[in-house]
Amino acid sequence: MLTHQNNPAQMQAKGPSIKPLAYQVNSLVGGCQCGTLRYRIVGQPLTLYVCHCKDCQKQSSSAFGMSLWVNAKDFNLISGELSYYLTYGESGTAKKCGYCNLCGSRIFHTSDQPNAVLSVKAGSLDDTSKLRPVAHIWTRSAQPWVVIDRQQYPCFETEPPSDRLLTDLWQQVQPR
Ligand SMILES: [Zn+2]
Ligand SMILES: [Zn+2]
Repeated sequence: MLTHQNNPAQMQAKGPSIKPLAYQVNSLVGGCQCGTLRYRIVGQPLTLYVCHCKDCQKQSSSAFGMSLWVNAKDFNLISGELSYYLTYGESGTAKKCGYCNLCGSRIFHTSDQPNAVLSVKAGSLDDTSKLRPVAHIWTRSAQPWVVIDRQQYPCFETEPPSDRLLTDLWQQVQPR
């Protein structure tokens, strides 16, 4: 599966049979606004979704957040230095927020558990042109002018029933 996806010739040969939501990025590199912090993601991401919760709006100082889940071992820091901000959810669990210690760009969120999945802020990738989320969550608090194509994207008023659902949706749109 991996070699298949990484072979551009085969991808082109598949042509229109590739589903439009497929995530076909072979090299995921990104960084902060000042350019000091650079990272590379190796291996396949686990899911990508859009979150309209108030927390994501505050964090991004914008309309919504884009979360790209990757295994911690797949996130390689190339340069720069991460600092962490800890915030606590209602359940008391810590959310560990990694950001560039120079310019403050938020790079990922994770928990304080070892080897927890990283939720990379997908807008920090260099090439966002091929990003296609598999769902919109917390649509209840979406800004009123944000128009979501509900035919195309599964939508959840608040949290989806399980994390598994988001990763399953991702699997369903991968090229085969
Ligand atoms: Zn959110
Ligand atoms: Zn920076």
